[in-house]
Amino acid sequence: MVTTQTDNTPVPASADVVIIGGGIVGCAAAYRLAKRGVSVTLCEKGRIAGEQSSRNWGWVRQQGRDPRELPLMMQSLQIWQSFQNELGEDVGFRQTGSSYLARDQKELDFLAGWLDTAHQFNLDTQILDTSDLKQTLPGLSHKWHGALFTASDGRAEPARAVPAIAAAAQREGATISTRCALRGIETKAGRVNNVVTEKGSIQTGTIICAAGAWTSMFCRNLGIDVPQLQVKGTVARTAPAPNILDGEAWAAPVAIRRRLDDGYTIAHGSALEHFLMPNTLRYFRKFLPSFIENHRDIRLRVNGSFLDNMFTPNNWDLDETSPFEKIRVLDPEPSTKILAELQANIAKYHPELADVPLLESWAGMIEASPDAVPILSETSALSGFYIATGLSGHGFGLGPAAGYAIADLATGQTPIEDLTPFRLSRFFDGSKIQLGPGV
Ligand SMILES: Cc1cc2nc3c(=O)[nH]c(=O)nc-3n(C[C@H](O)[C@H](O)[C@H](O)COP(=O)(O)OP(=O)(O)OC[C@H]3O[C@@H](n4cnc5c(N)ncnc54)[C@H](O)[C@@H]3O)c2cc1C
Repeated sequence: MVTTQTDNTPVPASADVVIIGGGIVGCAAAYRLAKRGVSVTLCEKGRIAGEQSSRNWGWVRQQGRDPRELPLMMQSLQIWQSFQNELGEDVGFRQTGSSYLARDQKELDFLAGWLDTAHQFNLDTQILDTSDLKQTLPGLSHKWHGALFTASDGRAEPARAVPAIAAAAQREGATISTRCALRGIETKAGRVNNVVTEKGSIQTGTIICAAGAWTSMFCRNLGIDVPQLQVKGTVARTAPAPNILDGEAWAAPVAIRRRLDDGYTIAHGSALEHFLMPNTLRYFRKFLPSFIENHRDIRLRVNGSFLDNMFTPNNWDLDETSPFEKIRVLDPEPSTKILAELQANIAKYHPELADVPLLESWAGMIEASPDAVPILSETSALSGFYIATGLSGHGFGLGPAAGYAIADLATGQTPIEDLTPFRLSRFFDGSKIQLGPGV
């Protein structure tokens, strides 16, 4: 696996573009820019892919997506294909298909609702009935009622892929500095002029903020409002296991994805936790449609983090330690209750995996926008400042295209897709907050 030695990398005095955040979006943007010969520096407060980008399920799927982001996702799939040759290492990308499994006709009818979107975009998605399922996914022994299935969907290994993209960006000339929090920005005549990091200042006219779960807080210090909330997902991986499925399969009780090490990454299919925080109140109205739609999957929690967040300053001086240096890597505890439910669900729905030991469990904070569609946008309040966030639990698959698109937008190139649906202003210009027909 590629590793990058970047903790001691100093920051340069100047760069054409500075990227905040070494998740998949920031790394893909750095790679795109470096390949084009743009001088780019990426600052990551912790380690490359320390947060969402290494903690996710590793699904690279088109299936079930909102039609607004589907064209970008289809582009991303092509980028994933090219990564397999370009990055100089096997990042585990395999087009082994994705399936959403239904336990009864009602669930199957709901999933079938997405076929209209699939047809609109000429995807190879189909509905499988019980006997089709036996042919297509013969290793599944539970008697599922049917499935929504897309053969061209893929999977990849998060912990390998993102460091490999970062290393490729470095080879192309990008500067990547880890343990390097970006504290804030200095402006001149309403434009970005300088960034202040804990390792020193960098003069620049262009910033891409790909700060994941930290974006809203970072932007508030600049007076830019970014509606964003977090939900915690608990995940585990098994020891090498019988090959019951070579791709990925979701069902409400359990989601599984085959790994390169012959184990499975597994998670509860419908159990996320939201810990009440000041942003819950701040953005309650904007997130209400999403809360209503997802109320069965989201478990509301109250704990000390509300007070911690309350007392985290919204403003700080650039010559003092910032909140980003205090938490290098957001590393929440996995939920023991959800893990116990998951193991019971595995025994019921994938009995061949019931006795395979779990080698590791972890959790990740998924950051979401109110309509669960990304924000890939310039900002009207600060010229030269671009935001790439809100990937809403879909950003591992979408990350390469999101990174490429924001890199293009920030440097005056035509992005690989029209980014109008992803503008930040949609949350403030009176547009209705619309949840798409994703499943
Ligand atoms: C449990 C879970 C399961 C998921 N499953 C899938 C899946 O199967 N498929 C899929 O497509 N997506 C999935 N996702 C979503 C996907 O992982 C994310 O959408 C994607 O990784 C977001 O990438 P990012 O680069 O925007 O953010 P991140 O990976 O969160 O990276 C942001 C980085 O910015 C850094 N940072 C923040 N502030 C600063 C600062 N001031 N200075 C320097 N650095 C800073 C952070 O340390 C962090 O490393 C899942 C997510 C989770 C948590």
